[in-house]
Amino acid sequence: MKTALRQAAALLQQSERPLLISHPRPDGDTIGSTLALRLALRELGKDPIIACIHPLGENLAYLPGADQYQETLPDEIDIDLVVVIDMSDLDRTGGLYREEWRDRIPLLVIDHHATNDAFGDVNLVDPTSAATVMPMIELLEALDVKIQDELATCLLVGLLTDTRGLRTQSTSPTVLRTVSSLIEAGGEYVKVMQKTLDSVPYKKMRGWGKALDRLQLNGAVAWTTFPLDEKKALAISDHADLDLGNLLSRVAEANITAAFVEMRDETVKISFRARPGYDVATVAASLGGGGHRLAAGCTLDGSLEAVVDRVLPMLHRAVESAE
Ligand code: AMP
Ligand code: MN
Ligand code: MN
Repeated sequence: MKTALRQAAALLQQSERPLLISHPRPDGDTIGSTLALRLALRELGKDPIIACIHPLGENLAYLPGADQYQETLPDEIDIDLVVVIDMSDLDRTGGLYREEWRDRIPLLVIDHHATNDAFGDVNLVDPTSAATVMPMIELLEALDVKIQDELATCLLVGLLTDTRGLRTQSTSPTVLRTVSSLIEAGGEYVKVMQKTLDSVPYKKMRGWGKALDRLQLNGAVAWTTFPLDEKKALAISDHADLDLGNLLSRVAEANITAAFVEMRDETVKISFRARPGYDVATVAASLGGGGHRLAAGCTLDGSLEAVVDRVLPMLHRAVESAE
């Protein structure tokens, strides 16, 4: 067994009250992996706490244990292990991680980002994996947990969302075999497809309409913007990114796409996507963010206009350097 896997299993076996943290604006991979680990640890007689600074979208809120998420943690908290899931650096806990824990409580990182800088005491990080779900499955097997039913459904959610419904370059034969075995183990594939992938709230789809109305294409770069006041007008929460990154990724003429979404405090969240052969991880990392070659992101200070003006030339350079 790999050293990191053995060490990760040992940390979890020794822990009684682990804190599991999912990343902000949570997606199906961070939530599915966290909820699967929560179910497994409860089966092992442990008492895990789960936390995420943002609420789960309706498309994830039906999952078992989703109602147990805490958005803030009490000052006095009785935990003996911190596990951060599907994030490439500690900033991605959104402030839930406390520096005072550093020397007292072990930190376990379970992730698959190419930009992960191994910031934990133990790092179960596999950048070749399509989703954090993949190293998570290895870990559950190392813990001798039976993967079935609700737990299998949680894992399916992570795999199906991070591969955008099995259509990304990362959708390998191993991924497809894993999906098959999760279905055989009782995972509800059609329910996940219906409730998680094919359920867009009406107001979010109205938002897509506004965003697509402003869609621009210049050479092989497509982009759009979304101002905060339009979120307010549609009663969409301030922190939402409307998942515009994945929507724009389908523009046929574009090799690189970017969705610029205004957030509170004069910041702009950018979602980058690239077609195979192009690389947006380097651009995102150079702007203080991270991700994968084909899907990455960052958050920058400044107005929408200023951020667009700053970033678009970088995207054109990224297209040129790949050609
Ligand atoms: P998104 O565009 O939010 O769907 O994110 C695409 C990928 O980039 C995901 O793997 C994210 O984890 C990663 N990512 C997005 N924003 C950031 C950020 N600020 N820092 C590090 N990674 C990020
Ligand atoms: Mn994620
Ligand atoms: Mn992921």
